[in-house]
Amino acid sequence: MTTVAFIGLGNMGGPMAANLAKAGFNVRAFDLSAQALETAKSQGCEIAATASEAATDADFVISMLPAGKHVRGLYVDGDAPLFEVIKPSALVIDCSTIDADTARQVAAAGAEKGIGFVDAPVSGGVGGAQAGTLTFIVGGSEAQFAQAQPVLQAMGKNIFHAGDHGAGQVAKVCNNMLLSILMAGTCEAINMGVKNGLDPAVLSEIMKQSSGGNWALNVYNPYPGVMENAPASKGYQGGFQVDLMIKDLGLAMDVSQQSASPVPMGSAARSLFTLHKAGGNGKLDFSSLLKLYQDKSE
Ligand code: NAD
Repeated sequence: MTTVAFIGLGNMGGPMAANLAKAGFNVRAFDLSAQALETAKSQGCEIAATASEAATDADFVISMLPAGKHVRGLYVDGDAPLFEVIKPSALVIDCSTIDADTARQVAAAGAEKGIGFVDAPVSGGVGGAQAGTLTFIVGGSEAQFAQAQPVLQAMGKNIFHAGDHGAGQVAKVCNNMLLSILMAGTCEAINMGVKNGLDPAVLSEIMKQSSGGNWALNVYNPYPGVMENAPASKGYQGGFQVDLMIKDLGLAMDVSQQSASPVPMGSAARSLFTLHKAGGNGKLDFSSLLKLYQDKSE
């Protein structure tokens, strides 16, 4: 049986590990949180006492951690770096959204020990993680991309090979920067229409069927009550937090800086979301940006 070590069982990693167990993989799970471990156990995962215990002899090691420093610490320069215990035929799949430089450096450190590594950030949110319909955006060699397929297919629907190491992370932040711009523009347009007497649902339908149509209008309308299942209709709870969008926009700004790519729209979107966070909205879904545009009650 194929053994998968899964490190990081948070909002995303928890359901991803559960889907692997459901698909018949032997999943050895580890997280710093005892509660996350309990949940993983109830969903068919074997619990490990340490990340090293989970990774020893595993065929795949998957990580789903907050940021680059956690990924580097886990594999390369923490107290018990996993590259010391992972077997050379295994493949490391890091699904965290982190900076492309760290992804490339960790891949190089693995290669020195003969261990394969791919960056495989995801799109699709917690709902996609639970439903097993995530999009994976993979950076690595052709052979590593092929090797990753069986486990990625158990957790996702669309699996793309973006290019060499780090390319998955660059593609991911390009997408999320565009998403932030589309959401900001959608909030701006709907707010202006409503202030001029339009019904938000009618205006949204008009724009959806016209040249302003976009993903935010199609599946994630930011105006409360327009779309029953969107976070906007649930008090902006659940979904994709403003804090995470700001993190991804910070990563996009790093890529822009390093490559001297002009990103005036991305910079503006980052400023808008940061201003919104400063208003105490960091934990709300990112479509709550609409509130930044709305008149405050006197
Ligand atoms: P989360 O905070 O819910 O989960 C992170 C988990 O990692 C926590 O359970 C934490 O205890 C654990 N952890 C941290 N350091 C660890 C270590 N050294 N060893 C073991 N466990 C450790 O975060 P999340 O929402 O699951 O996001 C994870 C990653 O996925 C992030 O990089 C995020 O940007 C990305 N992402 C999130 C979403 C989303 O909608 N939540 C969507 C796409 C991508």
